[in-house]
Amino acid sequence: MIKIQENVLLERYTTLRIGGAAKYFIEVYSIEELKEALHYAKDNALTYYVIAGGSDLLISDEGLSGLIIKLSLQGLTLEDARIIVASGTSLQKLVDYTIEHGLAGIEKLNNIPGSVGGAVYGNAGAFGQTISDKLIRVRVLVGDKEKYLSKQDLEFDYRESVLKNHKDWIITEVEFEMGMGDRELLRKTASEVLETRKQKYALGIKCPGSFFKNLLINRLPIELQKDIPKDYFGKVPAWWFLEQVGAKGATRGQIKISDHHANLYINQGGGTAADFFALAKEYKDKVKDRFGVDLEPEVQLVGFKEEL
Ligand SMILES: Cc1cc2nc3c(=O)[nH]c(=O)nc-3n(C[C@H](O)[C@H](O)[C@H](O)COP(=O)(O)OP(=O)(O)OC[C@H]3O[C@@H](n4cnc5c(N)ncnc54)[C@H](O)[C@@H]3O)c2cc1C
Repeated sequence: MIKIQENVLLERYTTLRIGGAAKYFIEVYSIEELKEALHYAKDNALTYYVIAGGSDLLISDEGLSGLIIKLSLQGLTLEDARIIVASGTSLQKLVDYTIEHGLAGIEKLNNIPGSVGGAVYGNAGAFGQTISDKLIRVRVLVGDKEKYLSKQDLEFDYRESVLKNHKDWIITEVEFEMGMGDRELLRKTASEVLETRKQKYALGIKCPGSFFKNLLINRLPIELQKDIPKDYFGKVPAWWFLEQVGAKGATRGQIKISDHHANLYINQGGGTAADFFALAKEYKDKVKDRFGVDLEPEVQLVGFKEEL
């Protein structure tokens, strides 16, 4: 039986600790509850938006007049090298589990916050690995119908999946076919990754990860490619462009761009979505003016009237 709450502040549910209130809010723990929540939205003519770990969200200060559905479906089963995971399971739990079982292929995703479903939605990745590498298929709920989508159906690309074009497709379960690996080696890789990540993300940092997507080198104009210092897995980091236009250390209200990383926007405490948006826009515009490049947010913007 679902419990409907009213006027729930969403800042509690984002790693950035920003976000106004949702008029209605439901946390669901099973597919049945998810179906009930969708019926509630339909019966009451409410728009709805699903969230999970809230680690890739910038929610406006005004919040949402509709319904927020927080996905907390949990579970993990293993058969040979095939893993079936409920979408609300934390990605870290899955990464830890695979390493413990000597299963290779997602160990470099160590320390990425959020859920497995959220990771699939945006094809999360790090250090050359992505969540889609070992993915076989996902189970989605569309209205009150369930279906499976194969890896091919999901049209994965850099930080992209077909789900971004189908906001009413909700992932409930994800299936992976893992490779076999050496447990000690997997542990070593994961801890090396963790050490590198600690340099970017201080403990307890209030942020949504990198804000803008990196750019794929082969999609940039040739004349620009020669100025780029280094190839990061076929990409040019967004921070490089942002750094050239002086983003490092810039502030607006309580939002600060890291002194060490020009694509990392931090809430120093009590920051607003309006200030975040304005600061992001300021430097996006500067990059466009100087390089003619359009930076695109990797983070999902929710409840804004204007596009970034
Ligand atoms: C400190 C930090 C470091 C990070 N590092 C990385 C990194 O290295 N690589 C990387 O790729 N990302 C990184 N991120 C971003 C983020 O962790 C990932 O994008 C994560 O996978 C998002 O999952 P989530 O559950 O938090 O999604 P949420 O933020 O809750 O939601 C994000 C989007 O996914 C949709 N969504 C969520 N669950 C489902 C579902 N089950 N079905 C359909 N749609 C769904 C939501 O509607 C929303 O549009 C980082 C974030 C932080 C805070």
